[in-house]
Amino acid sequence: MISAQCPIQFNDVLPASADVVIIGAGIIGITTAWFLAKQGIKVLVCDKGRVAGEQSSRNWGWIRQQGRDEAELPIMMESMALWENLSNDIGVDIGFKREGSLYLCESEAELAHHDHFLSFSKQYGLDSSRLNSKEIKSLLNGSQGRWRHAVHTPSDARAEPSLTVPAIAEACFRQGVIIKEACAVRQLSTTNGHVDGVYTEYGLVKCSTVLCCGGAWSSDLLYQNGLDLPQLSVKASVARTEKSPLIFNGNAAGSGLAFRRRMDGGYTIAMTDFLEVFPTAQSFRQFGAFLPLLRVAHKKLKIRMGTDWKERFLSPRKWTKDDITIFEKNRVLNPVPSNYSLQRMKKVLNDRLPELSNIAIIQSWAGVIDTTPDAVPVMDRSEAIKGLFIATGFSGHGFGIGPAAGKIMAALIQGNDSGHDLSRFRFSRFSDGSRLKLGPSI
Ligand SMILES: Cc1cc2nc3c(=O)[nH]c(=O)nc-3n(C[C@H](O)[C@H](O)[C@H](O)COP(=O)(O)OP(=O)(O)OC[C@H]3O[C@@H](n4cnc5c(N)ncnc54)[C@H](O)[C@@H]3O)c2cc1C
Repeated sequence: MISAQCPIQFNDVLPASADVVIIGAGIIGITTAWFLAKQGIKVLVCDKGRVAGEQSSRNWGWIRQQGRDEAELPIMMESMALWENLSNDIGVDIGFKREGSLYLCESEAELAHHDHFLSFSKQYGLDSSRLNSKEIKSLLNGSQGRWRHAVHTPSDARAEPSLTVPAIAEACFRQGVIIKEACAVRQLSTTNGHVDGVYTEYGLVKCSTVLCCGGAWSSDLLYQNGLDLPQLSVKASVARTEKSPLIFNGNAAGSGLAFRRRMDGGYTIAMTDFLEVFPTAQSFRQFGAFLPLLRVAHKKLKIRMGTDWKERFLSPRKWTKDDITIFEKNRVLNPVPSNYSLQRMKKVLNDRLPELSNIAIIQSWAGVIDTTPDAVPVMDRSEAIKGLFIATGFSGHGFGIGPAAGKIMAALIQGNDSGHDLSRFRFSRFSDGSRLKLGPSI
């Protein structure tokens, strides 16, 4: 994964103006830039840290249709088609392989959690189905753990996150996109309710269109211009193993453990039932909005104060264009992975997959997931500020859907039809009194 210690790769001269400024060089920002550049649009991408420094290089690398919210599924299926051609389009092997996703269950009760998804997946033409214990054994190379049931989607895929977004950024650069790392955007400049530029740490860049896709920072950025985005930041710990025997070549999760075969022959592993939340003053203010999600996810969400609680609670949330902001002070979010989580990964691995019990964990890291109160993203234009577009809150599932989300945002920015019903992803759902419908998971 990428951190602030990695050398700056993209350091273009900041232009005085651009057609579109994209704030955030994660998978959403970079894929949007890619689709806009293909149309000859002059795009500037600014990232306070590094391209893919945050979630987009730290995720598990699952590209899954399985288990999606029904409104996300057609978008995710389009994304899969885009992933299929991505390596060819950008000329880099990003480890994309269609090896399937597998949700492994120890009991009928666990299996029942997936009934809702299976009730609609077929009508979209998806190949998801239930497996019995014999089928699980043959798919897991003779291993079976305690798993008696599973849900399997053979057409799901995987790719290497730390390779993917930097490689698309290189392709963008070749298409003429200007990319500036270590360049924070402090706030938007507006006149009469219309965007006319962004204030970066190096000064003003004029533009009439801005896309905010700042991941865990989107809420703080939008707040500078009076917009209120409810957002919860959740820390997730991940590890990778040394090269190991082949159990399953795709993405699998069961008994709280997620494991995904890597291009290098190891596995990316993580706990599915252990996430940490470090509250801020804003978390208390938005507590009500997140209550339904917290009720459902409380078993896996651990509230932590952390040693930096004072800084989190006391640092100012509002600033001027001339202040050094939290964006410059936190170039790349690089939290320390949880020791408890790492130990449990090893324990569950030993217990459920004895074939992998002697393999070593050779690297660990953590990432901060940004989620909304209903755990589905915002993909929309702002009604309050003309020329502002927002794509954020992709929760723990924005990597797979990223290419289609980028294509959608590029279409919206150009005033074109995205080809999808985006009503579930509108920004106004948090403020117009709508009853929120929870998505399947964080
Ligand atoms: C541990 C973990 C596991 C995950 N596993 C999966 C998975 O298997 N499959 C899947 O589909 N998804 C997964 N996800 C989720 C997925 O990684 C994210 O949904 C996705 O990467 C979000 O992309 P993004 O572009 O919105 O945000 P990010 O990748 O977080 O990028 C946002 C960027 O904006 C920049 N930025 C913010 N504010 C400013 C500013 N003011 N000025 C300039 N730059 C700014 C940041 O520096 C950052 O680089 C996982 C996430 C984590 C953390």
